[in-house]
Amino acid sequence: MNAKTKITSVAILTSGGDSPGMNCVIRSVVRTAIGNGIKVYGINKGYEGLLNNDMIEMNASSVGNIIQRGGTILQSSRCPEFREKHNREKAAQILEDRGIKALIVIGGDGSFKGAIALNQEMGVPVIGIPGTIDNDISGTQYTIGFDTAVQTAIEAVDKIRDTAASSNRTFFIEVMGAKSSSIALKVGICTGAENVLLSDQKVDYHKIADAIRRGIRRGKGSSIIIVAEGDKPGRSYDIAHILKDLHDISSKVCVLGHIQRGGSPTSNDRFLGSMMGQMAIETLMEGNTQNAIVVRDDRVQSVPLSDCSEKSDHAMKAFKGIAEELSI
Ligand code: ADP
Repeated sequence: MNAKTKITSVAILTSGGDSPGMNCVIRSVVRTAIGNGIKVYGINKGYEGLLNNDMIEMNASSVGNIIQRGGTILQSSRCPEFREKHNREKAAQILEDRGIKALIVIGGDGSFKGAIALNQEMGVPVIGIPGTIDNDISGTQYTIGFDTAVQTAIEAVDKIRDTAASSNRTFFIEVMGAKSSSIALKVGICTGAENVLLSDQKVDYHKIADAIRRGIRRGKGSSIIIVAEGDKPGRSYDIAHILKDLHDISSKVCVLGHIQRGGSPTSNDRFLGSMMGQMAIETLMEGNTQNAIVVRDDRVQSVPLSDCSEKSDHAMKAFKGIAEELSI
């Protein structure tokens, strides 16, 4: 499609892991589009729904009463078939047959890779909006859902801290983040954790034991260690066992799990989601066909989609080590 073709109709989908705030983005996209005379189709279940031609035209009321709800009203999915070129051809044909001029994808780096392929191979104009609790996409300082996930984890850790302090216990609290330690780093700093174990970090048991014993010597009864789940959710149980075997230090484990994915989005996620949705439509109206809507320099901006195709938790890595420094 010619970049300057007037946008008359767009489709929107949510893909990959869902995150709180996706609904704020959907609402903003739908209302901005309708306000500018553009039709919007909501595709159910991500790329899977696109391949199944499963979509409905949305109106202003379709997105009423959702700004405060976690998850995504469009539902999400993982769709391995979309990695195959012939299926992306099919997707482009479905969009063309419906007269849809652009696709807005809310998701993580994997979803963006699919959007980039659809754009580069088939010429379908695409806009990516980063939505994942992990804050792990290159090219943006922020992804929608991160703040809510962090807030949920902080509330849980604060509660565990109460019981840990009352019974002089060491706790390993595992937060989400398969390849990313963003949640762990932020939660560690915000809860005053004694240590943060990153997703890709070899565990230094001597260092952990020394820190716990040093704390006990100066009257600290309890310790909280935040663990990024890494490739093996539940790895905190192994870590606790090894610490006991090597250093005779007993500890408790709490794996927070999917509780971090749900819940009502925080003001940050609602606000940024609303700004990003609006900018996605404006970006298309300006004739751009392969952009991502990101946060850089504390501003919502429209940048080339290719900037955002890699996994990267650069935004929080700068704060590595701070939790330990502040908890001596
Ligand atoms: P996220 O978007 O949260 O990173 P995934 O990595 O699971 O989640 O990707 C979501 C979906 O995006 C996949 O199920 C697939 O449909 C699509 N996708 C991921 N990587 C590619 C790729 N290299 N090419 C085409 N589509 C992809």
